[in-house]
Order: sequence, then structure tokens, then C-alpha cells
Amino acid sequence: MAFESMEEWLRSSADKNISTAEAVIQEDMSDRGVSREETWTQMSRMWEAMRSSEQDYDRTLRSHSGLVGGAAGQMEDYLNTCHPLCGETMGKVIMRALRLGESNACMKRIVAAPTAGACGVLPAVLVTAAEQDGYSDDQMTEALFTAAGIGQIIAARAYIAGAMGGCQAEIGSASSMAAGALVFLRGGSPEQMADAAAIALKNLLGLVCDPVAGLVEVPCVKRNVIGAVNAMAAADMALAGIRSTIPADQVFDAMKEIGDQMNSSLRETAEGGLAATAAGRAVSERLRENL
Ligand code: SF4
Repeated sequence: MAFESMEEWLRSSADKNISTAEAVIQEDMSDRGVSREETWTQMSRMWEAMRSSEQDYDRTLRSHSGLVGGAAGQMEDYLNTCHPLCGETMGKVIMRALRLGESNACMKRIVAAPTAGACGVLPAVLVTAAEQDGYSDDQMTEALFTAAGIGQIIAARAYIAGAMGGCQAEIGSASSMAAGALVFLRGGSPEQMADAAAIALKNLLGLVCDPVAGLVEVPCVKRNVIGAVNAMAAADMALAGIRSTIPADQVFDAMKEIGDQMNSSLRETAEGGLAATAAGRAVSERLRENL
């Protein structure tokens, strides 16, 4: 059985005196009956795919609807010519989250982690961390196992799909996974990893899923940015020793409760929120007329 709580995951790692990433590797081997080499190779390919899909961004591409494309190119130009308010590192995180979100909308290859809509969050922070701190591919693969451990527990206790739990379940989960992975990379304790995951998701609780015209474009691409930036802030807070008053497992449970209470118009049906604004409806109408 895979881990069903953060508490169980941390206790198992401590009892066996292994890292949280190693505990996920061992659980995966036993769950799926695969060898260490198989599980490792699979995850290292994910890392490679994340990195290459980020590098393969094409600023000339536009989505079929015309709503999305080119924003990451604008961000790159801005980074090259101005001093971003957020600083260079965060500027790159923003650019990379846009790259992946736009690539998804333009039907290019991405890694759905945990979903295609939230595909920009993990690569944005992890590619930037690897570039900045010089982590090896093996370290990045271990970080992805940590992220996977968090995502799997969220999926077991709550949701990772916008149609089920709103955008908190997609961007919120991705942000939580990314925050924990960053703490792992920086050598933080398992408790700090859990705190980062909890803080990141807490900050995005209640976020609704309201894609304009039902397309994973607006507001999805830019929400990847906020998920990535939030992950960086949550990881830094946890590494500074700031605790989450609400433990991670209870945050995940709260996300489920909030998702269950969310009106269906705010769960990917494109009937509420931004999709129901005058501008959102106008886009929808225009796309229908052009069919
Ligand atoms: S708004 Fe909905 S479709 Fe878009 S990223 Fe969030 S959960 Fe996914």
C-alpha cells in the first residue's frame, strides 16, 4: 500500500532511517512489483522530459483559440532588458511556468504533474533550482520522488483534478509538491518538507476552476506562475524554520472538504467565475461563431 498520510510517510522514513525519497522508491517497487532500476529510470525520464519540454518552448506558437502564446517570450525579453521586481531567480521561475503552460495549450509535449493544467509549476521551480544550484540529474530525480510522494498522498486524501476539487486541487497540489521537492533539494528536514507542502497548499485553498470557454488556457497558464512562485515562498518559509500550524494531512483534508462544497459551476464546467464574466463569455461566443 502506498502512503496515505504525511505522518505515515515520515514515520516510515524515520523508522527505516532512509530519506523520504527513498521511502517513495521502496513503496513504488513493492506496490507495482517493479525493480529499483525500473522505477528510477521512469522518474529520471520524467525529469529529462520536464527539462527538454521547457527548453523546446517556441515563442511563435499560438493556441488554436488564439488566447495563449508568446507570453513567456515577452517575459524573457523583459528579463533580458529590465530588472524584474521579483529578482532574477523568480523572474526565471515566472518565465518557465509560462513556457510550460503555453506549451500545453499549444499541444506540445509536457509532463502532467500532477495534471496537464498544472504542468508548469514543478518544471519552473526545479529547472531553475538545478540551473542555479547545480544539482545533478540524480538529485533532481530524487526530488521528483519527493514531489510524487506528496502528490500521491494528496490524491489519496483529497483531489488532484479541477473537475473534482477546483483549481486548488491542480495548481494547489502542484505547488505543494514543488515546495516539498525544493526543501528536499536544499537538505531540509522531512518535517520542513511537510511544512512547505502544507504552507503552499494552504495559500491556495479555495481556488476555483473556471477556465474561459472550457479551455485550459485562461486563467490556467498564469495560475501556473502563481503556483510556482508560491512554492518558492513556502519552501523558503519552511527552510527558515517557520512551521505550519495546521499539519499537512489536515490541510489536504481541508482541501477535500472545500472541494466537496464547491459549486459545480466552479469545477471545470466553465459556467462560473472568470468563465462567466462578460469578457469570458465574449471569448466563448467568438470561438463558437468561428467553429
Ligand atoms: S482553472 Fe481549472 S483547468 Fe485551469 S489549471 Fe486550474 S484546475 Fe486546471
